[in-house]
Amino acid sequence: MVPSMASDAEAHAPRLPRIGTLPAWRDAARRLAAARVEPERVDWGLEGEPAPFFAAPLDDLPEPSRALRVPKAFPALLRTLVPERTHRGMALAYALLLRLQSEPGLLGSRADPDVAEAEGLAKAIRRDIHKMHAFVRFREAEGDAAPGARRAFAAWFEPDHRIEEAVGEFFATRFGDMDWRIDTPEASILFRDGALSYEARANARPEAGDPMEQLWTTYYGSIFNPARLKPDAMRAEMPKKYWRNLPEAAAIPDLIAGARARVAAMQAAAPTPALIRAPEEDAMKMPAQTDLFGSQTLAEVAESASACTRCPLYSDATQVVFGEGPTDARVMFVGEQPGDKEDLAGRPFVGPAGQMFTEQAEAAGIDRDDYYVTNAVKHFKFVQRGRRRIHQKPAASEVSACNWWLMQELNLVDPELCVAMGATALHALTGNGAGILKRRGGVERTKDDRPVLVTVHPSYLLRLPDEELRAAETAKFRADLERVKELLAA
Ligand code: URA
Repeated sequence: MVPSMASDAEAHAPRLPRIGTLPAWRDAARRLAAARVEPERVDWGLEGEPAPFFAAPLDDLPEPSRALRVPKAFPALLRTLVPERTHRGMALAYALLLRLQSEPGLLGSRADPDVAEAEGLAKAIRRDIHKMHAFVRFREAEGDAAPGARRAFAAWFEPDHRIEEAVGEFFATRFGDMDWRIDTPEASILFRDGALSYEARANARPEAGDPMEQLWTTYYGSIFNPARLKPDAMRAEMPKKYWRNLPEAAAIPDLIAGARARVAAMQAAAPTPALIRAPEEDAMKMPAQTDLFGSQTLAEVAESASACTRCPLYSDATQVVFGEGPTDARVMFVGEQPGDKEDLAGRPFVGPAGQMFTEQAEAAGIDRDDYYVTNAVKHFKFVQRGRRRIHQKPAASEVSACNWWLMQELNLVDPELCVAMGATALHALTGNGAGILKRRGGVERTKDDRPVLVTVHPSYLLRLPDEELRAAETAKFRADLERVKELLAA
């Protein structure tokens, strides 16, 4: 554990800049570590914060003469620890850095109190980053009126941690064709003429209310499906503290209050559905919802998907089975399509193949909090034989129609690693599903350039008639899942 600073020993109190904190932390930590300054003798803080009067300047320490050794996973952990609001993250990162010099495998010891605490903090910061990605709402701002000038937008957000520099690139990539700024209470992220910069400054929350607010409220009201109302899930995905900065949030209480009446009206007005396949060109039409600024949440995307008619499969299936798991999951497992049980339950991977997968993932030590599971195709495809519904492999056109949803899940969950289970998932993620048995165990790139580990589908294992072969193939599948942990650590 990292004890608090002892006041009777010589201490150092690095005061780092609010912008550029990470490189400044690295410089300070290198110097302190080279001089073997113990973690309890370092009081980390930001410029402007009071330092203990007995703290010695860092310049007194000798220049570091040799590089420090860290495992590949450390830089990513560091990026999430340094923005932690109370500076505990910076202190823990330094304690870990010192210990890694003599314990190179330390980060793999989840039971270690420092590692466990660091992972807990890192998870909270990743969640904060994820919320900022999802809940920033831009309003059009006064821009340069010159002809051809880029439109200018501004947004206000109150993150829990100092994550402005961790999210800048995300917004620059998404909104590269306009000028914008995002203000937080302590800093601004600025994007002008394609250049991203940051400023430390105290910003005040802007007055609410402009035409863009009305647009958001109307938009949200129009995509809100009262029949799918799940207030608890909505609150979990969009915690109340974010509501005051979301224009559409003003509409939520009324929408919830009116939901019952709207469902009753919808039921009364609904025609009895005929079991006729929609014509292909109709079916390929997108549902009416479009994404105004690409800022939908996963719950909103799932909501839109529930009305999907992009391919004919919706007409026979019971319901859309959307992905499930933490919205900041580190890994996304992709299967083929829901099976009979999943179609009825509305949840992925709950039938026999799903149970097989869950058991193997658990045995491989993959934490349920770390993964999201979904399918390449979100509707069950089957033929009816008597009382049985027999699974049918989805056609390439169905996989490609459903890619619309899979890509949105990928963007919003933003996993560090995908796992393609079976040829359909591999096709959906990479554009090519051929030769899976030759490719299994390898790491390839998805169409949007993410690492994807290739493995077989768990139902392939269940179908193998020979017990010995099934045991051997199951062991290989487990080995593939164990690689997931190694890849995450790397
Ligand atoms: N098979 C899949 O690919 N997905 C499920 O959800 C269930 C079985």
